[in-house]
Amino acid sequence: MEEAISFDAPLVQLEKNLHVLELFHGPTLAFKDFGARFMAGLMRYFLRNSSSKLTILVATSGDTGSAVASGFYKVEGVEVIILYPSGKVSDLQEKQLTTLGENITALEIQGSFDDCQRLVKEAFLDQDLLAKYRLSSANSINIARLIPQSLYYANALAQLHEHPDKAVFVVPSGNFGNLTAGLFAKKLGMPVKDFVAATNVNASVPQYLESGIFKPHASFQTLSNAMDVGNPSNFARMLDLCNNDHSAMKKDLRAFSFDDEETVLAMQEIYSRYNYVMDPHGAIAYLGWKKYNSSSKVGVGILLETAHPAKFIETVEKNLKIKLEIPAQLQEVAQKAKQSKVLNSDYDNFKNYLLQR
Ligand SMILES: *Cc1c(COP(=O)(O)O)cnc(C)c1O
Repeated sequence: MEEAISFDAPLVQLEKNLHVLELFHGPTLAFKDFGARFMAGLMRYFLRNSSSKLTILVATSGDTGSAVASGFYKVEGVEVIILYPSGKVSDLQEKQLTTLGENITALEIQGSFDDCQRLVKEAFLDQDLLAKYRLSSANSINIARLIPQSLYYANALAQLHEHPDKAVFVVPSGNFGNLTAGLFAKKLGMPVKDFVAATNVNASVPQYLESGIFKPHASFQTLSNAMDVGNPSNFARMLDLCNNDHSAMKKDLRAFSFDDEETVLAMQEIYSRYNYVMDPHGAIAYLGWKKYNSSSKVGVGILLETAHPAKFIETVEKNLKIKLEIPAQLQEVAQKAKQSKVLNSDYDNFKNYLLQR
C-alpha cells in the first residue's frame, strides 16, 4: 500500500457544500494510478518466486493503459500489451501509452474501446493463446484494481469537516469501476448519503435505472473519452451488490447523462464561478451534482476529479481560452516518438498477431 499509493488525494473546497476530490496526483495524472499501481505491486509480490512469464492484456479508453504500464514498467517477468482505440484518445494520452517501450507494447486498434475490451475478454478464453501465454487482466474486471479505490472515498470523508452522513459522492463513470469501489466502501460500513453516477451520452446505466432494462450499445465518441463505454464491465458487479434488484439499485444510486455541449458549458461555468480548471470528466461530475441538487436534496457534494486537465489540453485550452501549464510528467512523454502496432478489430487477426510474436 505504502509503495503503491505514494501520492495524495486532496479535497479542495469550491464553495459551501461543494468539494472536489482530486484523484490525479499520481505518476500518470489520472485516478487509475490508485488501482493499477496497487495491482501491479500485488502481482510483483506474488510473482517473486515464479519462473514463468506473465502477460498482462489490457484494454484502455485512455488512462488505464498508461497507469498499468507505468506500474509494470521494467518489471522483470511481466510484459504488458495495451489495446487502445485508434484516434479516440487525446494526443498526450496516446503518448503516455506508446512511448515507454521495454516490456510495454501498444496495439492501436481500428475500432472502439468496446472492441478492445471484447478482444481482451475473448483472448482469456482462448485455449490456443492460453497454451502459449500465461495471461492476466488489468482492467477493472480485475478486483485488485477496485479494492484500493474504496480507500479514497473514506479518506475524503476524513478530510471533510462535516457530518459524513451528508456526503454525496458524484462519480464520472464509464466502465463503473470507480463507482463500484464506492459501493464496496458503503457495504463495508462507510457512512454516505448518496452516490451519483454521471455519464456522457454512453448512458446504458442511467437508462437502466430509469427503465429497468439494460441495453448495452456500441460506444459513442465524446470529449470525455475515458468514459466512452457502451457496455460497462462492472455493471454485473453492481447488480450483484444489489441482489439483482432494480429497485434496490435505485435506492443506492442516482444516475444522469450529459452531452458534449453541456460538458463544455460546465467547464466554463466552473472556471468563471470558482476559478477552477476542471477536465471534461470532472465537468460531467459537476453536471451530475447540479442535477442531483436541483431536486432539492440537501447534502455536501464531493465531485471526483479523475484526471489532470492537462491530459485534455486541446479541449481545455480551446474552451476556457487559457494557457495551461503542462506538468513535468507529460512534458517528458510529449517529446518522445510514438511506437504502436496498428491492427483491425477482428479477433482472428488479433489472435494471429499474438500467436506469431
Ligand atoms: C477511466 C476513467 C473514468 C471512468 O472510470 P470508470 O471506473 O471506468 O467508471 C473517468 N474519468 C477518467 C479520467 C478516467 O480515466
